[in-house]
Order: sequence, then C-alpha cells, then structure tokens
Amino acid sequence: MFILYLLVFIFGTIIGSFLNVVIYRLPRNESLVYPPSHCTKCKNELKPYDLVPILSYMILKGRCRYCGDKISIRYPIVELITGLIYLILFIYFGISIKSLSYAFLASLLIVITFIDIEHKIIPNKIILTGLIAGAIFRVLMFNYGVWDYIVGFFLGGGVLLLISLLSGGGMGGGDIKLMALIGLFIGWKLTISTLFIAVLLGAVGGIILIVLKIKTRKDYIPFGPYISAACIISILYGYDLLNLYIKLIRG
Ligand SMILES: [Zn+2]
Repeated sequence: MFILYLLVFIFGTIIGSFLNVVIYRLPRNESLVYPPSHCTKCKNELKPYDLVPILSYMILKGRCRYCGDKISIRYPIVELITGLIYLILFIYFGISIKSLSYAFLASLLIVITFIDIEHKIIPNKIILTGLIAGAIFRVLMFNYGVWDYIVGFFLGGGVLLLISLLSGGGMGGGDIKLMALIGLFIGWKLTISTLFIAVLLGAVGGIILIVLKIKTRKDYIPFGPYISAACIISILYGYDLLNLYIKLIRG
C-alpha cells in the first residue's frame, strides 16, 4: 500500500511541475508547450535532472545550475501541495471518476490561487477550461445526477454576484465565475459549505494580513485563494461540517 501512496504522490508532484509552467506562462500569454523549460534569466534549457519535482530544487539549493539565479520557492511549494492533495484525494475516494474530477478541479484551483496572488486576476482561459471539463465530467458521472450540480453552478455564482451587487463591486468578476465553476464540480450542498468556509477564511486571513502589516485595509486582497482552500476543505469535510451545523441549530 505504501508503494501505491508513494506513486500517487509522485504523480501529483509531476502534475504540479506542469502546473508551475501554467502559473508562470499563462498570465504572460506564452505557449504552454513551447519552448521547453528553461531558466527565465539565462535562458539555458533545463535538463531532465533539473526538472525532478521538489528534489532538483533541494539539490540545487534553490539556484539555477547555469547562472546561479534564485529559483522561486513557488516551484517546490506547488509540486508539494499538488502531490499532497492528490494523495489525500486518493486516500478518500480511491481511483474513481469522482477522485479524477476532484483532482482536476484541485489542479485548476492551485493554478488560480498562485496566479491570483501574483497577478490579482483569475484568467478566463482557466475558467473556460474548467467549465468544459466540468460539463464532460457531469456527462461521465450521470449516475450522480445532474440537478445538484446545475443548482450548485447557479447558487455559487449567484450568491457572489449578489454580494458584489450589494457591496458595489467588492467582489471580483473572476471570483463569481470561479464559484459557479466550483458549484458545477461539487454540487449545491458542498457549494454552501465552500461559501461559508471561504468567508470565514477570508475574514481571518484578511485580519492576519492587516495585523502583520503585509496588507493595509485599502489594499486589494485576492479572494480566489480563500475560495480555493475552502473548496478543498469542503470536498473532504463539507458533509461532516453541514451535519454538525444542522445538529447545532436543532439543539
Ligand atoms: Zn539561469
């Protein structure tokens, strides 16, 4: 079993390595496949042994083999997070079309999180990719029903759209589209759980960032990372949290 866990983790880190390429190139409108991976400073093409997820970064102590330029810590972090999330999804859902759909969604969320932190945008290309994939997964997973997910789509997008209208544009259009996309993947119940947790994380995270003086009250704080984290938590614990909540309000 351990070997299987290790293989799933390694597979996740390899996907993470590709997500790093997407995170860097997509906002810069560069091709995802050409040219091959290279140092962004000295342009030297990276050899396979420079591209081993996590390990290459550690062995090279975070510097380019050719010019010594610092490599962003984001690379090993994204690889590690992707590996861990794939492993956890495998432990929870086994190898199934469901875990595959969650792994796909998680990969999109990782890309969105890191692009949103750096560029403060959620690219439409990613949302569109997600919507198409989500629709295909819904067809493949027809035995799970369809209405839960259609309701999730409109509920997720609708609630944030409403908040945006009421707050006079405090919520970005990207966040609204992202939440609709999530609803399509996880259904309306987990969408409610995601919304609650995202608001909670956003409030706590916002206060911490302001107290630590990383951001001021006037700064734009991207909400995409909070929605993404809340979605992953909901996939794993959403039903437990909803049941706990129902128990609490019933006394
Ligand atoms: Zn270099």
